[in-house]
Amino acid sequence: MQAEKHVLVVFPHPDDEAFSSSGTIKQFTQSGVPVTYLCGTLGQMGRNLGNPLFANRETLPEVRKKELVDACKVMGIQDLRMLGLHDKTLEFEDENYLADIIGKVLEEVKPSLLLTFYPKHGVHPDHDAMSNAAALAVSRMPKEERPVIYGKAILKNSVDLIGPPDITIDIRDVAEDKLKAIKAHKSQTSGWVELMEKQLKENAPEIEDWLYRETFWTYEA
Ligand SMILES: [Zn+2]
Repeated sequence: MQAEKHVLVVFPHPDDEAFSSSGTIKQFTQSGVPVTYLCGTLGQMGRNLGNPLFANRETLPEVRKKELVDACKVMGIQDLRMLGLHDKTLEFEDENYLADIIGKVLEEVKPSLLLTFYPKHGVHPDHDAMSNAAALAVSRMPKEERPVIYGKAILKNSVDLIGPPDITIDIRDVAEDKLKAIKAHKSQTSGWVELMEKQLKENAPEIEDWLYRETFWTYEA
């Protein structure tokens, strides 16, 4: 893994980072690279209110905020910034407005690497809104100051459209931490966690892509 000065992580929902890149993030923080995480919303529209119910629409943001803080502790992220934007409405925000917010942080922390979804390959409209805005913010910077962008593409046919990922990070040494980060978002991930633990025990092939490696596509802003 290349030495980075500062890594900026940009995702709309608490738990996006856990599934997509918490192993990579953990490796960075472990090796002393500062990581700033801009989380767009508190996922207040999350479908999952728990079974048995542990939250309602009013309390869900508080629950998810706490889960996000816990996940950041696991990943070693010391600079978490919650933007407090409204879940499921990011696609209706002005892209320039979102890009302005991200741009201010780019100016401040001067990251050498930015982790986000791959623009237009995020499946969920919030994912695309956030990653498009991040790419726009980077494209406004002078070329020599731009961070490299690692985009996570998750369309079923992403590989057909943009080819295989060019970045593969072996996260086997932090697999347990990744599972813990996913677990921290328990209001949303309990079913997943049980499945992963079972697969881990059985050494199922799926676990490779969940807990042993993370892949990204370099994006040219
Ligand atoms: Zn999401």
